Amino acid sequence: MKANLTGVGMTSLRTRARMIERLRQQGIRNESVLTAMNDVPRHVFVAEALAHRAYEDTPLPIGCKQTISSPYIVARMIDILLEGRSSLGRTLEVGAGCGYQAAVLGRLTREIYSVERIARLLEKARTNLAALPDSRHVRLRHADGSLGLPALAPFDSIIAAAATANIPQSLCDQLAPDGILVLPVGDSEQYLYKIRRTAQKFVEEKLDAVRFVPLLTGLEK
Ligand code: SAH
Repeated sequence: MKANLTGVGMTSLRTRARMIERLRQQGIRNESVLTAMNDVPRHVFVAEALAHRAYEDTPLPIGCKQTISSPYIVARMIDILLEGRSSLGRTLEVGAGCGYQAAVLGRLTREIYSVERIARLLEKARTNLAALPDSRHVRLRHADGSLGLPALAPFDSIIAAAATANIPQSLCDQLAPDGILVLPVGDSEQYLYKIRRTAQKFVEEKLDAVRFVPLLTGLEK
């Protein structure tokens, strides 16, 4: 069946517009982020039985014990990545999941790579992204993103959708000069971190308290 991109009822454009209003109230000011969030139909990325909840501000299960992050978290992380810059440039996402965040990132850059360690989810992401005409440039890989994507580095932006105990040096090393990495760090208590590469060093900022699934190593079917 062809995906219903515009949606009806709880998946309608009006419901999506309300999500954007809520994001504004929650403090997301970057108009390009808000436009990208408005352009991507989140209901296409979740199971049909959950589609009516797609525009609520909540994470939702996507199978394989994983979740799609809440709209606010997706917007907030991309907002942080874009702070003080006009473009994301060459971008790496670690943890494609169902492909939703990759689709939003894809509205903001032409060069986007997203890696996922669970093959079944990667296939879901592939199908979901193929249904959207403006997302076909998103490149997906079945890979362990804890190692980054060295063959395609350096990246101007790196974003991880799963939490690590410590900031991974491999991801920092794959940042281009002035590149920015945003990711959740911690075990029982997690925080978003923003790491910027300057000419001489990496500058770390600890930001919001968050709750993410853990970044795991190795591949899964
Ligand atoms: N951005 C996703 C969120 C998915 S949740 C979305 O929009 O749906 C985080 C994802 O990270 C999960 O799918 C999980 O399998 C994946 N993940 C965890 N560790 C990983 C690793 N080392 N490499 C690649 N993906 C990983």
